[in-house]
Amino acid sequence: KQLKEEELEQIEINAVTEWKRQARTESYGIKSKLSMQEQRESLPVFQSREELLKAVRDNDFIVIVGETGSGKTTQITQYLAEDGYINDGIIACTQPRRVAAISVAKRVAEEVNCKVGEEVGYTIRFEDYTGPSTKIKYMTDGMLEREALVDPLMSKYSVIMLDEAHERTVATDILFALLRNVVKKRKGTLKLIVTSATLDSIKFSQYFNDCPVFHIKGRTFPVKIYYTKNPELDYIEATIDTVIDIHTNNAQGDILVFLTGREEIETCCEAIVQKMSVLYKSDPSMSELVVLPIYSAMPSEIQSRIFEPTPKGKRKVVIATNIAETSITIDGILYVVDPGFVKVNAYDPKRSMDTLVVQPISRAQADQRSGRAGRTGPGICYRLYTKNAYLKEMPANTTPEILRKNLSHTILMLKAMGIEDVMEFRFMDRPKEESMLKALEELYILEALDEEGKLTETGRYMAYFAVEPMLSKTLIKSFEFGCSYEVIEVIAMLTVPDVFYRPREKRELADKMKRRFDNYSGDHLTLLNVYRKWEASGFSKDWCTDNFIHEKSMKKARDVKNQLIRLMEIVDKKESGIQLSLVSCKNKLEQVQKAFVSGFFKNCAKRSSNHGHTDEDGVFRTLADNLAVYIHPSSSLFKIPGVDYVIYHTLVLTNKEYMHCTTKIDPAWLVQYASKVFRKANEGELSIHKKRERIQPLYDRFDQNERWRLSRGRR
Ligand code: ADP
Ligand code: MG
Repeated sequence: KQLKEEELEQIEINAVTEWKRQARTESYGIKSKLSMQEQRESLPVFQSREELLKAVRDNDFIVIVGETGSGKTTQITQYLAEDGYINDGIIACTQPRRVAAISVAKRVAEEVNCKVGEEVGYTIRFEDYTGPSTKIKYMTDGMLEREALVDPLMSKYSVIMLDEAHERTVATDILFALLRNVVKKRKGTLKLIVTSATLDSIKFSQYFNDCPVFHIKGRTFPVKIYYTKNPELDYIEATIDTVIDIHTNNAQGDILVFLTGREEIETCCEAIVQKMSVLYKSDPSMSELVVLPIYSAMPSEIQSRIFEPTPKGKRKVVIATNIAETSITIDGILYVVDPGFVKVNAYDPKRSMDTLVVQPISRAQADQRSGRAGRTGPGICYRLYTKNAYLKEMPANTTPEILRKNLSHTILMLKAMGIEDVMEFRFMDRPKEESMLKALEELYILEALDEEGKLTETGRYMAYFAVEPMLSKTLIKSFEFGCSYEVIEVIAMLTVPDVFYRPREKRELADKMKRRFDNYSGDHLTLLNVYRKWEASGFSKDWCTDNFIHEKSMKKARDVKNQLIRLMEIVDKKESGIQLSLVSCKNKLEQVQKAFVSGFFKNCAKRSSNHGHTDEDGVFRTLADNLAVYIHPSSSLFKIPGVDYVIYHTLVLTNKEYMHCTTKIDPAWLVQYASKVFRKANEGELSIHKKRERIQPLYDRFDQNERWRLSRGRR
C-alpha cells in the first residue's frame, strides 16, 4: 500500500486533535493491573474468536491479517487448542526469529499456567524445550523446514500456523510450497494458517488456491509523524539526541528505538546512560530513564525485562533491532524513533558469500515501525529521514529473502525432501535461474550432488545437520578423517557469538590473554584449545573471567556440541555407508585442518606478495576470485612467518577485507580433498618444491551445459 502525500497530511491532522483530547497518562499502565484472563480478553483478536474458529473449521487454508499486537501469535494457538485441535495432533506456530519463538512461548506458557516445555514449548536450532505433553509448539520456520526431511507429511501436527509470513524468509517460502501439497495429501486432517501483519494478503491467498482472508479488526490510535528537514549524517548520534530530547521535553510514555544490530545498540545504550548521568547531576528532579536493549544474541533474562511494566515516575526506552517491528509487542510505547535502517542478509557476488548489509528500510517497514507508537494511545514517531526519502527513495516493500540470498542451503533442503526438479519448484517468488544454477554447482563441488544432480549420501547427511553446507560437509568428512570429536567442538565454537571478551578499558590485557590460547596452525585449532581448556577447568566460571572469555558463549557452544552429538547418534542407527561415530584424533590435529579443507576449499587464499615470509601484513588473494584479503590482527596467524596458503571461515569487511577465522593449509590437500575444483598447475614443480606448488582453480570449467545437467538432465 502506498501512502499518498495528502493521506499523510490527513493522518497528521487527525493525530493532533486526537492527541489533545486524550490525556497521555490515562491508558498508560492500566494493563498491568488487569488479570491474565482480562488481558487476554482485551486483545482485539478476542472479538473475532468464534468467527475465526469457524473459518478454520470450514477451510483447509486460511490467511489471517491483523495489526501487530492484536494477539495473533499468542492467542490463536490457544483458541485452536481450546477448540479441540490438540486431540489428535500438535499445534505448531512458526516464527522467523529465534528470540520471538522463545519470547512468545514463555508468554503463552504463563497464560496457560504451565512451565515452558510442558503443554507449551519451543524448538529453535540447538535448543529444544518441548516434551511428551507439549500441545502448542512455537518454533523457528527453519526447524519446521528441517522436520520435513524426517517427516514429509508433518504427521505430528493438526494445525500449522506460518506466522509473520510478511517477513518472507527463505524457510517460510519453502514451507509455503511444501505445505500446499501436504495439506492436500492429508485430506482435511491438517489445517494451514498463514498470518501476516501487512495487507499484502491477496498474493498469499492466490498462492493457496484463493483461500479466504480473515481480517482481525484492530484498534489503533493515530500516530503523529515527524520527519527531519535534512538527511542525518550520523543516525546513531541523531538517535541519541532524539531520545534525550523526548525524555526531557515530552510527557510520560515509553520510547522504542530501531537500530540495526548489537554493536549499534550497545553503543547507543552506553551513550544514553552516560548523557543521562550528567543530566541527573545538573537537575536532581529529572525522572529516571531506564535503558533496555533487545537483539537476538542476548541472554534471555534481560530480554524479559523489556516486558515488565515501567516503574511509576520513570520512563523506559527499549532499543531494539527490527525484531520489535512485528515479531514482539511491548506495551506502553508512545514514542518511536526510527532512523530508517535495517540489517539484512544478502548475497555479495563480489565475495561470493552471504553478508549482512545495512540498508534503508521499505515504506511498509517504516509504517509498521510508526504503528508501534499507536497501540496504547495516540503516539508520536520521529523518522530520522526526510519525507522525500520516505516518499521517493524507499522501496514500497521489502524484497523476499529468497531473492537475495545464496541458495545452496535451500536447494540442498529441497533435494533432500525429494524434490528433484528444483528448477520447476513452485516458489511464491521464483529466484533467478542463474542463482539456482550457481547453488547447484556449489553443491556439486561439495559432493552433495552427483553429476546427474541427484542427492549423494554425503548430501543427505549434510541436509540432516542444521548447519550451512560448508560446515556440514566438514562435519561429514571429519568421520573419515577420524576427528569428528574435535570438529564438532570447533563447529560449536564457530556457531556461537565471539568467545573472546575485549572490554574497552582492558583491551591490551585481554589481547595478551588471548595470545596464550593461540595455535600457530590457525584459529580453528585456537578455538579448540579454548574449549578444551574450559572443559579441563570443569566448565568453570572463574576460569572464563580470568581468561577474558565470555562464559555465555562457551555454555552455548557446549549446548551446540551436545546437540550435534545427539543428532549424530540418531542418524547413526540408520543404515548407512558413512560411519558416523565420535572419534578423536588425539594429537594429530592436522586431521582437523584437512577436514576443514574438504568443506571450506572455496574459501582458500594464497599469499601474493613476493617479499618472503617476513611481510607482516602481506596481501593474500583468494583462489576462487583473486580478491585481495588480509589476516585479521586478532588471528593467531597474524605476523606468523611461513603461512602461504590458508582457508578462512568468512570475510569481514572493515577498512580492509579481513579473513575471519583463518587456518594454514598444505596446498596439496586442495588437490586431494577438492579435486573437483583444484588441480596441480605444474606437476614437475610439485615434486621438487612442495611448498611452491601452484594450484589452479577450475571454476571456469563449469559451462552452462554442465550446470543444466546438474539441474536434472534438462537441455
Ligand atoms: P500479534 O502476534 O498479533 O502481534 P501477540 O499475540 O504477539 O500479537 O501479542 C499480544 C499481546 O500479548 C501484546 O500486546 C502484549 O500485551 C502481550 N505479550 C506478548 N508477548 C509478551 C511477553 N513476552 N510478555 C508480556 N506480554 C506479552
Ligand atoms: Mg505475532
